[in-house]
Amino acid sequence: MSAQQRHAEISGAGFAGLTAAAALAQRGWSVRLHERSDELRAEGAGIVLWGNSLKVLQRLGALHDLKARAMRPPAYETRTDNAIVSQERLEGVDWMTMTRPHLHETLVRTARESGVELVAGSEVTGATADGTVTFADGSTAEADLVIGADGVGSAVRDSLGFQVDRQRSRDGITRFLVPRRKAELAALEPDTEWDNVIDFWNMSGRVLRVLYTPANDDELYIALMSPAADAQGSQVPIDLALWQQEFPQLAPVLEDAATIAGRYYGYQTTRLDRWTEGSVALIGDAAHAMCPALAQGAGCAMMNAWTLAEAATRADATDVAGALVEWERVERPFTDRCQDRSQHYADSRSMSQGGQFAGDILETAQYDPTDARRHDLQEVAR
Ligand SMILES: Cc1cc2nc3c(=O)[nH]c(=O)nc-3n(C[C@H](O)[C@H](O)[C@H](O)COP(=O)(O)OP(=O)(O)OC[C@H]3O[C@@H](n4cnc5c(N)ncnc54)[C@H](O)[C@@H]3O)c2cc1C
Repeated sequence: MSAQQRHAEISGAGFAGLTAAAALAQRGWSVRLHERSDELRAEGAGIVLWGNSLKVLQRLGALHDLKARAMRPPAYETRTDNAIVSQERLEGVDWMTMTRPHLHETLVRTARESGVELVAGSEVTGATADGTVTFADGSTAEADLVIGADGVGSAVRDSLGFQVDRQRSRDGITRFLVPRRKAELAALEPDTEWDNVIDFWNMSGRVLRVLYTPANDDELYIALMSPAADAQGSQVPIDLALWQQEFPQLAPVLEDAATIAGRYYGYQTTRLDRWTEGSVALIGDAAHAMCPALAQGAGCAMMNAWTLAEAATRADATDVAGALVEWERVERPFTDRCQDRSQHYADSRSMSQGGQFAGDILETAQYDPTDARRHDLQEVAR
């Protein structure tokens, strides 16, 4: 490390931490990224990313690798009680589907190639406002910038006394990655475009939903939603007879899902009183976990990671804290509004009415965090 080089310590090698680490390293910082697990890997099955995070991946130099095993489905189709209510082609909107392992591996490779030191099996227990990090083995480290990207149970956040408001919704989801089985699905329903994302809602009687998301030519991401109060609907491994009875057109892929243990996640939204304390900043689920309705939790994590790296690099070395406060002031409103909208959709289940991806709902998806003129453009538009 040169005398001038600034140093960052980051807790958590999820999508938020990896993005921030790569973005800082590419701006000349020395970066050490700590991951509590012994292995660097993604939890979960598939994921949808929108323009905001795809722009970040492009600027990190990771988009080419990502696209090698991702897809852009022809449409987002919504079916309620087995009737098609909308097929949104989303012309002009940038979005892609992929598996989480693929996105994670792409970001790990990008971070490594950018010079980030990745340390697995390293648990952060807390941080102080002046930039000291403490570890479970009793050691400490000093940094010009500390980032808590350690997820919804963030130790960095909890060690600094941020106020956390947590709201739980009535529904939750179990996610699976299974083979596509396109020919078998086409045999059951020849007229269906099985490359679409298809949001199957059963709203009359028992509320259940399957979000069918092709992730690439071979892998399918299916997310099974049920209210937490429905013990049979939310049980894992899934109750195959129940799900096949409700969604017979998906029988072959549900059969594969039933062989996987799975984990039921209740939806939750966390909001903090502030995202920064001295030279410590929080990003991702540590700062702003949200309901998955708009598929933007990781998207917001990545856009905030990018803009944080940019703001910290621009900051006067004697006033990193002030730069972080300003970063939160200008960037946070986009995430706050996205959290509110996502929670509204989750609570009202109004995505079952279809035609949802229009107008304000796409604000965050279409936000370009890499455009240096983005805030001037917002002002002009107002
Ligand atoms: C059902 C569901 C579907 C979703 N679908 C989408 C979607 O389609 N699109 C989208 O953009 N978002 C989606 N999201 C949201 C998205 O998954 C999260 O917002 C995103 O993964 C958060 O990333 P993160 O890096 O902040 O946190 P995490 O992914 O939780 O990563 C935190 C990392 O920190 C590590 N860690 C924790 N504590 C410590 C510690 N003390 N020391 C060191 N390391 C630690 C953890 O092991 C982990 O690796 C969905 C979420 C859910 C629940």
